[in-house]
Amino acid sequence: MATIHRDGDLELLDGRVAVVGFGSQGHAHALNLHDSGVDVVVGLRDGSGSRAAAEEAGLEVASIADAVRGAQLVALLVPDHVQQEVWESEVAPNLTEGTAVLFAHGLNVHFGRIAPPEGHDVIMVAPKAPGHRVRELYVSGAGTPGLVAIHQDASGRALQLALAYGVGIGCGRVGLLETTFAEETESDLFGEQAVLCGGVPALVQAGFDTLVEAGYQPEIAYYECLNELKLIVDLLYEGGYEYMRYSISDVAEYGDLAVGPRIVDDAVKARMRDVLAEIRSGEFSRTLFADDAAGRPRFAQLREDGAKRAQEIERVGKELRELAGIEGLLGAEATGAHGVG
Ligand code: NAD
Ligand code: MG
Repeated sequence: MATIHRDGDLELLDGRVAVVGFGSQGHAHALNLHDSGVDVVVGLRDGSGSRAAAEEAGLEVASIADAVRGAQLVALLVPDHVQQEVWESEVAPNLTEGTAVLFAHGLNVHFGRIAPPEGHDVIMVAPKAPGHRVRELYVSGAGTPGLVAIHQDASGRALQLALAYGVGIGCGRVGLLETTFAEETESDLFGEQAVLCGGVPALVQAGFDTLVEAGYQPEIAYYECLNELKLIVDLLYEGGYEYMRYSISDVAEYGDLAVGPRIVDDAVKARMRDVLAEIRSGEFSRTLFADDAAGRPRFAQLREDGAKRAQEIERVGKELRELAGIEGLLGAEATGAHGVG
C-alpha cells in the first residue's frame, strides 16, 4: 500500500510563499494558502492579465523577481513549456540561500531542463484535480487528493515542508500520496497518452467510423460510441469493474468479456510498452520541447490532422449536443479549466 499522509505542520511555512503564475493551479494554491494563514505573494510577469484578478482576490502581487527574493518557498506554477525560460531568466537569479522550490508536475525537473543548485529543497505537491476544483473544494471544506515527492532534500525536512504546503492547499483533507518525480512524470504522461486523452478518444472514433462506414446513421453511431461512454465511465468510477458488469445487461456483459480482449489485445499492449519506453528514455519530451522551441510546426500539423479525422464525429456531436442542451466551455472560460494536467 502506498504511503498516504494526511497531516502536515503549517507552522513550517512561517516565511513567505511566492506563487509564480496565477492560472489554473496558481490561483488555487495562492488563495488556499492565503486562507490557511500563510503569507503569500503572487509573482507575475509585467503586463500580466492576471494581476487584476489576483489583487481583487486580496492577494499581494509583485514582479516574479521581487516575489522570489527572500521567499521561503517558490512555487513555479507557470505552464510546463515556459518553466525553463521563467526559471532561467527570473527565478534562479533571484533565489535566496535556502529557498525551497516547488513544482506541481515533475516534467522539467525529471528530464533535466531545470536543475536547481544544491542547497535548495526541490519538492512537488501535485493536486490530482484541475485548479478550479482545488479551489472550489477547499472553500467548501473538502479537498482534493494530491501527490508529494522530493527531488532534493537540502534542509533535511523537505518532506515535512511539502506536507505543510499540501495541507495548506487542502490536499491533506483527503490524502497526500508519496511518489517520486520520475514516477509522477512518467505515469502522468503515459496515462494521458495511452488511455485518457490519446487512447480512449481514438477508440471512440474508430468505433464511430466503423459504424458510419458500414452505412449506419452517424447519429446512432455517436450515441452508441461516444454519448454512452459517460454512463460506463460513471459506473467504473463509482464501483469498479464488478459494479459496471452488474449494472449492464447480460448481453452487454457477455459481449464485454468475449470481445473486449480481442479489441484491446496483446498488440495494443505491446504498443503501449513502446510508448512508455519513449517516455522513459526522454525521447517524447525531447521531441515535444524541440517542436515548442521551433514555434510548434509539428503541433500545428498534428492539430490539423486530428481535426480532419474528427470532422464527421464533431459535426454530428455538435448537432446532438445542441439538441440536448449540452454546452461545451470552448472559449475564454475553458482556459486553464481543463483537468488532465
Ligand atoms: P496555466 O496554463 O493555467 O497557466 C499558468 C499561469 O502562468 C498563467 O495564468 C500566467 O499567469 C502564467 N504564465 C503563462 N505564460 C507565462 C510566461 N511566458 N511567463 C510568465 N508567466 C506565464 O498553468 P497550469 O495548468 O496551472 O499549470 C501549472 C503547473 O501545474 C504545471 O506544471 C502543470 O503541469 C501543473 N498541473 C496542472 C494541472 C491542471 O489541472 N491544470 C493539474 C496538476 C498539475
Ligand atoms: Mg497529465
